[in-house]
Amino acid sequence: MPEEEKKPKKLVPKKYPMPEQDPKERIHNFNEVPMGQDAQTAIAEAQRCLQCKRGPNRKVCMDGCPVEIEIPAFIKKVQEGDFAEAIKIIRQKQNLPAVCGRVCPYENQCEGFCIVGKKNEPVGIGRLERFLADWERNQPLQGKIDVPPPTGKKVAVVGGGPAGLTVAGDLAKLGHKVTVFEALQYCGGVLVYGIPEFRLPKAIVYSEVDYIKRSGVEILNDYVIGKLDTVDELLKDYDAVFVGTGAGLPDWTNLPGENLNGIMSANEFLTRVNLMKAFKFPDYDTPVRVGERVVTIGGGNVAMDCARTSLRLGCKESVILYRRSDAELPARREEVHHAQQEGVRFELLAAPVKFIADDCGNVKQVEAIRMQLGEPDASGRRRPIKIEGSNFLIDAQTVLIAIGQSPNPLVPMTTPDLKTTKEGTIAVDEAGRTSKKGVFAGGDIASGAATVILAMGDGKRAARAMHKYLTEDSSWPAPEVFEKLSCEM
Ligand code: FAD
Ligand code: SF4
Ligand code: SF4
Repeated sequence: MPEEEKKPKKLVPKKYPMPEQDPKERIHNFNEVPMGQDAQTAIAEAQRCLQCKRGPNRKVCMDGCPVEIEIPAFIKKVQEGDFAEAIKIIRQKQNLPAVCGRVCPYENQCEGFCIVGKKNEPVGIGRLERFLADWERNQPLQGKIDVPPPTGKKVAVVGGGPAGLTVAGDLAKLGHKVTVFEALQYCGGVLVYGIPEFRLPKAIVYSEVDYIKRSGVEILNDYVIGKLDTVDELLKDYDAVFVGTGAGLPDWTNLPGENLNGIMSANEFLTRVNLMKAFKFPDYDTPVRVGERVVTIGGGNVAMDCARTSLRLGCKESVILYRRSDAELPARREEVHHAQQEGVRFELLAAPVKFIADDCGNVKQVEAIRMQLGEPDASGRRRPIKIEGSNFLIDAQTVLIAIGQSPNPLVPMTTPDLKTTKEGTIAVDEAGRTSKKGVFAGGDIASGAATVILAMGDGKRAARAMHKYLTEDSSWPAPEVFEKLSCEM
């Protein structure tokens, strides 16, 4: 072998950049911010991968992926320029690659385990996943997806968010007849009603849902379980039920003045913008008037989405009010960075005390107080402590409350023997089984508000357990197991 061929390739220390819309322009539109990579860049990025082997004492990228994608195998195919084979490998485990390539917190998941990332920037696994899903979407549309012969078993999935869609896609691939019951007019859950268009275009979610439909899944929209039918009624027609109804119940501050005009939950605000297309007023008849100043309370992804959406709706100043410091902001770093680039003002180490009205009952100011950090609390983060006498005022015509969401209570309320925890989540064992035989649950309704990929990981585990339940072993844990689980959590 010639000497130069034996030399190891020099590692490119940084990820290849992804072009983005200029912040000055993008705050005037709802188009996607990162614009994707071309084939040449994707191949160059893939060549940064060392094709590491997993070992009992060696964790690699795959150990950080909750849906168990064979990451080195798909990256190898990208290195070879075989994109069709690469996306096939991803699709074996992952039902929503175009979504996860955009919103998965990969910095803490797969990329957090990447060996290259120990000394350099990790391989851009999320970007490669996005590239492949986008490449696939631009190929001529394939027809029905091949599935095995029908098993004769029927499954009902309640809720068409990432958890429910994962269960539906995985069970359809195993030959079961799956029907998804979705309360809203579109499937996708938070992916359609919560995450804004500039982070995740809705057309992409619809195309992923279409892929799942092409594997034979039936989707019934505008179908609220707990109103039209109950889980008990579903069990008469279906062999098993999966509940993936999410955590869509907004948490409130309960501070004085919270019911003033102009104060709303992040959920209501984002739903009006995303689902009812408030940003396309007057083409759509549901405007959201935000005024000149918007204050968003909270520091997670939801808060960043509210603050950035407000700018795009035309406010002059968008402020994030968060009670801890920059280091504790729970939002993804990329989202914080994008918000900062767009001019969102971060009022950190500050918490609201009350909301102040004008003469007509509209909010006009938020009274806030400065905080300092004390010892770590139960969450492991340092506890914010008020600095007495440090109160100050911020003008606001709109206040958005983005401090968290709780589990949707309708299904637990209408299914009497479904055990819940004190937080209102459905109690499940490690396989996603609930206290009711034949009923499984996962995603935010079981874990509390979390992430897309963790909801999908739950869905994957539950689908595996449901397949086993439907085909080989229909035994069920004793009631005491769930009694204990509901008390522990
Ligand atoms: P959901 O996505 O909530 O879906 C539940 C579905 O069930 C919904 O479609 C709902 O309409 C339906 N449903 C509810 N009740 C019923 C009923 N009774 N009958 C029938 N259907 C019902 N995570 C990330 O990983 N990255 C991000 O960048 C990110 N950003 C976010 C931004 C926002 C604004 C929000 C709100 C969340 C964000 N998350 C993010 C969190 C993530 O979206 C959720 O963890 C994930 O969607 C949970 O999936 P799920 O399937 O459990 O529930
Ligand atoms: Fe990484 Fe998320 Fe893709 Fe898994 S799904 S490989 S964790 S980006
Ligand atoms: Fe490639 Fe990183 Fe995975 Fe190693 S850990 S195989 S370098 S992506």
